[in-house]
Formats: sequence, C-alpha cells, structure tokens
Amino acid sequence: MSENVTVVAVDGPAASGKSTVSRVLAKKLGYLYVDTGAMYRAITWKALEENIDVDDTIAVIAMMHRIKIDFELVDKQVRMLIDGVYPGSAIREPRVTGKVSTIAAIPEVRQVLVHHQRSLTKFGNLVMEGRDIGSVVFPDTPHKFYLEASPEVRAERRKRDLEAMEIPASQEGVKESLQLRDRKDSVRSASPLQIALGATVIENSHLSIEENANVILDHIRQQSLRRGSFSAGGA
Ligand code: C5P
Repeated sequence: MSENVTVVAVDGPAASGKSTVSRVLAKKLGYLYVDTGAMYRAITWKALEENIDVDDTIAVIAMMHRIKIDFELVDKQVRMLIDGVYPGSAIREPRVTGKVSTIAAIPEVRQVLVHHQRSLTKFGNLVMEGRDIGSVVFPDTPHKFYLEASPEVRAERRKRDLEAMEIPASQEGVKESLQLRDRKDSVRSASPLQIALGATVIENSHLSIEENANVILDHIRQQSLRRGSFSAGGA
C-alpha cells in the first residue's frame, strides 16, 4: 500500500450492512467506495453468461485468463468492467447469488481479484468492503472493521433489498440462503471469512446506518490521532 493512501477495510458476513455503511462512510471521509463482493459477483455473472459450469474449476480459471478486467470511477465508486461491460444490477440476481461462493472459493480467482483490489489505491483513499480485506488484501491498514448482526436482522435487511428489486422472498428462505453462503465463505481454505487480526468488531443489529458509520468514523479518528495522521476530506 502506498505510504500516502489510506484504506479502511470493512468485512463481515452477508447482509451485515457492509455496503450501506461503507457507502455512507466513504462519503463522510471523502474516500472512494469499493465493493469487492461485486467483483466476485461479476466474475460469476460472466461465467453464467458463457454457460460455464461454476464447479468446473479448470474452465473458470481459463475464463479468468481470457477476460479483460478494467476499472472506472463513477460517482466516487470504483466499478469493475469485464471485457468492457459493466454488468450492473444483473450481479444481484439470485442465479448469481446462488453460485458466487463457489467461484469465490477458487484460489486462482481470488489471486487475480486481490491483485486488482490492491492496485485500486492508484485512485486514492479507499473504503473497501468484503470478506478478506483486513486479513488478506490490506492486512497492514490500521483501520479494520468487522460488522455483525443477528441472523434475523440480516435476513430482514436482505429481504428488503430483494423486494426493492421486485424479487419475492420469504424471511425463512432468505435466512437459510444467507446461512448457507456464510458457511461456504467461512469454511473455504482460500481466504475464508474471518475477523482480521486487530479488527474492531461492531454488532450493528440495533444501530442505524448513520450511527454505525459514525462509530467507525470515531475509531478512525482515534486510530489516526494516535498515529499522527488523519486525512479525511481528501480522496
Ligand atoms: O458482499 P456480497 O454478499 O455481495 O459478496 C458476494 C460473495 O462474494 C460472498 O458471499 C463471497 O463468497 C464473495 N466475496 C469474497 N471475498 C470478498 C468479497 C466477497 O469471497 N472480499
């Protein structure tokens, strides 16, 4: 990581509020927002578009070598393009959500994406969210956070997200699929979901997005004051 760039790492299980909180936090800090889950989803979307069986690891790795990955900045968010295409909301479709953990468990896929994720500091200070940001992608950042919420609260949040996209969902069905994905993400051998060494754990079941972002902001201020560097406001 470049000496002059600050990365805030936000990790946690599915629907723990990482995206909404990270977006608000990035805005408050004047940093760029990076959703690494969207990158694993985009790779999954591409594999499905090409009718590749996601369990066929060799075919997925071959696809990773074939595709061209680029990034663009839109409204202070970093977006990943595959072969010049930004897949947009297609990456949130249930067919992608159902397969993404299989793709994300392939070490070669992670290697390529982690390399790209590290390169994004060229754009400036970042709030980056995912599963392995504090543990693997930027283990040296002093600003690591791990968000958690109860299974019920997380299922309710994800159900609302799906309904907003006009995808019908039952509370129990959503809860089960979140649990399944968390289990897959936690037991895989390549960079499993875990609380990074030195991360601050925030249980946010009873916090609003704004409150959660402010808790993180307070921690960053204290951490930065201790280190004699606080660079909020400059991207
Ligand atoms: O954050 P989101 O739920 O969109 O992430 C989708 C999936 O991408 C996760 O369930 C996980 O399998 C994978 N992922 C990952 N490492 C990251 C971010 C996401 O393995 N840093």
